[in-house]
Amino acid sequence: MKQEFDVVVVGSGAGAMMAALRAHDEGLSVALIEKSDRYGGTSAISGGGIWIPLNKQIRDDREAVLGYVRVAAQGQVADARLVAYVDTAHEMVEYLQQATRLRYAACHRYPDYYPALAGAREGGRTMDPEVFDGGLLGEELARLREPSSSTLLMGKVAMTARDAHRMLAKEKGWKLLFAKLMLRFALDFRARKRLGRRTDRRLALGNALVAGLRHGLLTRQVPLYLETALESLSFEGGRVSGVVATQNGKRVEIRARRGVVLAAGGFERNQALRDQYLPAPSQAAWGVTPPNNTGDALLAAQALGAATDLMGWAWWAPTIHVPKQAAQTGLFAERSLPGCIAVDGEGRRFVNEAKPYLEFVTAMYARHRENGRCVPAWLIFDADFRHKYPMGPLMPGQVVPDRKSWQGVVYWKADTLEELAKEIGVDAAGLAATVARVNEDAASGTDRDYGKGGNVFDRYYSDASVKPNPCLAPIAKGPFYAMRLDAGDIGTKGGLLTNEDAQVLDERGAPIAGLYAIGNTSASVMGPSYPGAGSTLGPALTFGYRAAKHLALLP
Ligand code: FAD
Repeated sequence: MKQEFDVVVVGSGAGAMMAALRAHDEGLSVALIEKSDRYGGTSAISGGGIWIPLNKQIRDDREAVLGYVRVAAQGQVADARLVAYVDTAHEMVEYLQQATRLRYAACHRYPDYYPALAGAREGGRTMDPEVFDGGLLGEELARLREPSSSTLLMGKVAMTARDAHRMLAKEKGWKLLFAKLMLRFALDFRARKRLGRRTDRRLALGNALVAGLRHGLLTRQVPLYLETALESLSFEGGRVSGVVATQNGKRVEIRARRGVVLAAGGFERNQALRDQYLPAPSQAAWGVTPPNNTGDALLAAQALGAATDLMGWAWWAPTIHVPKQAAQTGLFAERSLPGCIAVDGEGRRFVNEAKPYLEFVTAMYARHRENGRCVPAWLIFDADFRHKYPMGPLMPGQVVPDRKSWQGVVYWKADTLEELAKEIGVDAAGLAATVARVNEDAASGTDRDYGKGGNVFDRYYSDASVKPNPCLAPIAKGPFYAMRLDAGDIGTKGGLLTNEDAQVLDERGAPIAGLYAIGNTSASVMGPSYPGAGSTLGPALTFGYRAAKHLALLP
C-alpha cells in the first residue's frame, strides 16, 4: 500500500467517491479508506435520490430556491453554505454525468417536502438515478454493499424511484410496468448466472449511484482500501497531514500532502454518542443504516478542536423491527395511503401521517415529551387496507398473505379494535374515539385534526381512486392490524461545522487547515429541515465536489 497521496478520503459513500473522483480529475493523487469489507455505506442502500434545484431538466428560479431553503433552515445555517449549495448542486450533477456512466432523471411529479413554504416546487428538483449495469464493475460488484430487499420488487428486481411510485400509487399502466420489470429480470438469467447473482444485475437507487461512482474510480485507477478504519488524524506544521488507520489489525499511517476529507457517515450506530446528544429514548438498533457509522471521524476531528453543530438532530424516520434483518425497515411512503393512522399509547393521533419522515418522528418526540407514551407509536389499519396496500415489510395481502410467525412481532392482529388495543397496550376508549372521528373525516374528505391529504406532497403517495380524499379511508372492517413504530433514523444530521468549501471550522470559526468534512460527518447544510427527497445525498455529493475543487486550488 502506498503511504502518501495528495488527498485521503475517509469513507466510501457517495460523497466520498465524488470527492475522490473530482480530486483525481483536478490532477491530484487520491485514495479512499473504508472501514467495512464492503464499499458504499448507507449511500448504497439508499434511494439514491438527490435534491438538485436549478437542474437542467426543469425551469427553476434561483431566488425562489434560496428563499425556500433559507426559511426551511430556520436561520441555523450560514448563508454562504446555502448559496454554495444552490449554486453548485446543478453543476455537480452535470459533472457526475459527464465523468461517469451514471445518468439522472428529474422526478417531475415528486414535490418538495414543504409545499406550504414560498419557493417550494410541485416536482422536478428530486432526481433519481437510471438503472446501472452492475456487470460493468466486474469482480468489484461483489464488494458493493447490497441493497435492502425491501427496495427490490419481490425482493429481487431493480426498480427506479419513478417505477416504485407508479406502482405504489397504482397509476395508469402500473400493471404493465410490473410485468415488464419481471420479464426483463426473468430474461436476464444468463447474465445473473455468469455474475453469480441472485438479485438483479441491473442496479437501481443508491446501488446505482455508488456503482456508477465506483466504476468511475476504477477506470481512473483510484485506490480504495477496504477494511481500513480511521483511528486518528495526524497534525503537523499547523495542518492536518494525514490519517492513522487500522488495516487488518495493523496500524498504518497515510500521509496527505494537501488534506483529508472526512466522509465517514454520522454517529447513529454509536449508542454512547446517541445518549449524549439525541433526544431520549433513542436506540441505535432502531436505525436503518449499516453498523459502521460510529462517529469515528467526528471524534478524531473533535480531538483537534473542531466545532460541531445540530448534534441533537437525526434524519429521523419511523422504523419497524423485522426479525433476521440486519437493520429495521423505514416507513418512507406508505403512511400517506388512505385508511391508516398513527396513534400514541392513549390511542390519540399526534401528526398528519403523510408528513415527511423527519417531521413524523419529530412529532413523536414532541408528544412523548407531553405524555411519555409516543415512543413507540402504533400504526393502525383494517382488513381492507391490509388487502390493498403494502406497509413496510408487509406486501399487500392480495399478493402475500399474513405470515403467522410475524404476528405479535412485526404486526399485531385482532377481530375488534378493542382487542387490538388490549394486545398492544393502547387505551381502548381513546383508540375507539379516534377511529370514529377519522371515519367521519374519511367520509367528508377533510382531516379536521391534522389535514392529511391537504397538500400535493401528502397526495404523492396516495390512492387516486379513493374519493373525496385520496389519503383518507375508513378503518372499519376487521380484522384490525397494528404495527409498532420506533423513532428510527437514516443517519444523524449533526456533525462537524464546515464552511462553504467543506473546510472544518474550529471553535473560533477558523478553518482547520487540511481538514474537510462532508455527508453526515458534517452538520447538515439544511439545518434541522428536509426540503425535499435527496437532501442528504445531494449535499454530500455537492460538498464532496466543492472540497475537491478547493483542495486543488491550494498552493
Ligand atoms: P455513508 O454513505 O454511510 O458512508 C460512510 C462510510 O464511512 C461507510 O461506508 C462507513 O463504513 C465508513 N466509515 C465509518 N467509519 C469509518 C472509519 N473510521 N474509517 C473508514 N471508513 C469509515 N438520502 C437521500 O438524499 N436520498 C435518498 O433517496 C435517500 N434514501 C435513503 C433510503 C434509505 C433506506 C436509507 C437508510 C437512507 C436514505 N438516505 C437518502 C440517506 C442517505 O443514504 C445518507 O444520509 C447518506 O448516504 C449518508 O452519506 P455519508 O457519506 O455521510 O455516509
